[in-house]
Amino acid sequence: MTLSDEFLGALEDLCPVRGKEAVAALDPGFYPDNLAAGVAAHPRTVSEIQAIVELCRTHRVSIVPHGGRTGLAGAAASMPGQLIVDLKAMNRIEKVDVVSGTVRVQAGATLQSVQDECASHGLTPGIDIAARGSATIGGMISTNAGGMEAFRCGVMRHRVLGLEAVLPDGSVFSDLTCVTKANEGLDIKHLLIGAEGRLGIVTRAVLKLEQLPLATSTVLTSFENAAGAVAAFHNLRAAGNLLRAEIMWRSYAESVAKDVGLDDLIASFDGNVFVLFEHEGATQQDAQTVQEDVLIPLIEDGTISYAIVAQNDRQASDFWRIREDSWAVERQRPGGYWYDVSVPLEGLDQYVGELENDLKNIAANVHLSCMGHLGDGNLHVTVAGSDGVHPDKELVDHAVLSRLRLKGGSFSAEHGIGLEKMKALAAYGDPAKLRFARAIKQAIDPESLMNPGKVQS
Ligand SMILES: Cc1cc2nc3c(=O)[nH]c(=O)nc-3n(C[C@H](O)[C@H](O)[C@H](O)COP(=O)(O)OP(=O)(O)OC[C@H]3O[C@@H](n4cnc5c(N)ncnc54)[C@H](O)[C@@H]3O)c2cc1C
Repeated sequence: MTLSDEFLGALEDLCPVRGKEAVAALDPGFYPDNLAAGVAAHPRTVSEIQAIVELCRTHRVSIVPHGGRTGLAGAAASMPGQLIVDLKAMNRIEKVDVVSGTVRVQAGATLQSVQDECASHGLTPGIDIAARGSATIGGMISTNAGGMEAFRCGVMRHRVLGLEAVLPDGSVFSDLTCVTKANEGLDIKHLLIGAEGRLGIVTRAVLKLEQLPLATSTVLTSFENAAGAVAAFHNLRAAGNLLRAEIMWRSYAESVAKDVGLDDLIASFDGNVFVLFEHEGATQQDAQTVQEDVLIPLIEDGTISYAIVAQNDRQASDFWRIREDSWAVERQRPGGYWYDVSVPLEGLDQYVGELENDLKNIAANVHLSCMGHLGDGNLHVTVAGSDGVHPDKELVDHAVLSRLRLKGGSFSAEHGIGLEKMKALAAYGDPAKLRFARAIKQAIDPESLMNPGKVQS
């Protein structure tokens, strides 16, 4: 199916448009199908978005909103006959309110640009993900992104004070409050947060800010198991100044270290689990002292097997590279299966142990790799076979996902549902919750104009 010349002509009168060749030159992100629609509109204002929505309604053309295309669940995939509405031209940081501790931004601003602008005022949006250079605030709101600071500052849902969006009927939802307390009945903006572009196009947001740490210190630690890592996490958190706690099982750390040439760095660590802890302080030396004060007793009592405090920025960035270059796992064993789950902290070892056993029963030589955000029990799990021969996907899906609900965890921690987890949502989602979600979609977007075919249709 292709878009009619009449539609395309009218669209070109409204805003800049990219056709097939120009779209093909864009970076599709992780899903080549993100650009399959072959036509992208690049609105510059809210009224241009309203006009695009009106035009799409008239011509019954469905819309796939795009931010940085860094989403990992396939929620931005499109197909011929649809229109990509790319928000990246709407990238202004409109106001940093230092006194109130808020920032108002357009949806297409990247996280990095917001972080940089806020940092110049000694503030931070209180959320960070490795895709910061490309991920947009609108995309992060629409996927309810989590990341490395969620255990302290919450996920995107907790960072958003105010929101503006163009709804499927072309009207503007405008709730740009700048305060934490606005108890004015149902807080409807939360329907748009995590909606994966299915209830409207987010155009602006007001985010809550935190004080930017003055200086940080990073330490790479290892533990016999996750229980030890969790005990240390609670201790360090209670002592204060803890900013980040990122967990990696040995098989993950070894795969990445090998790929990026940092094998020597982790060679001296014992134990099955690594954790990167980051602390803040008035100066780097101060942060390091705070860190050492809390770590030394844990090393002495054997909770921590081994630790290296980064002595300079270069070493800290090598530590972080092992955590953040997760795509190295794919480079090492292409075509593996990726999952994003969460598990209550007390059950981490049991979950990973049961999974290892299940995988052994499914096939020989299966490589399991786990890492994630320790404070949230959020694990990014990859399962791959050797030499490109992967185990049966349905059996692996079952092994990874089936126990989570009973344990009180989730089959979808922070990346959303998109296309990737629709089957899992049908299998493990609560039926009443799904009925509720369908009723909301039907009420707000009865013609299914916005991002149809994703999440639950
Ligand atoms: C290296 C890497 C690390 C990551 N780390 C994390 C992490 O730690 N935590 C985490 O939670 N996620 C992480 N992610 C995934 C994360 O979901 C995305 O990076 C980010 O939230 C998506 O933003 P985006 O602008 O790229 O959105 P896109 O990928 O463009 O879109 C994602 C979804 O949002 C919709 N959308 C986009 N913009 C709008 C808008 N303005 N209005 C309405 N709908 C819109 C799209 O239709 C789609 O459904 C990571 C991704 C990568 C590549």
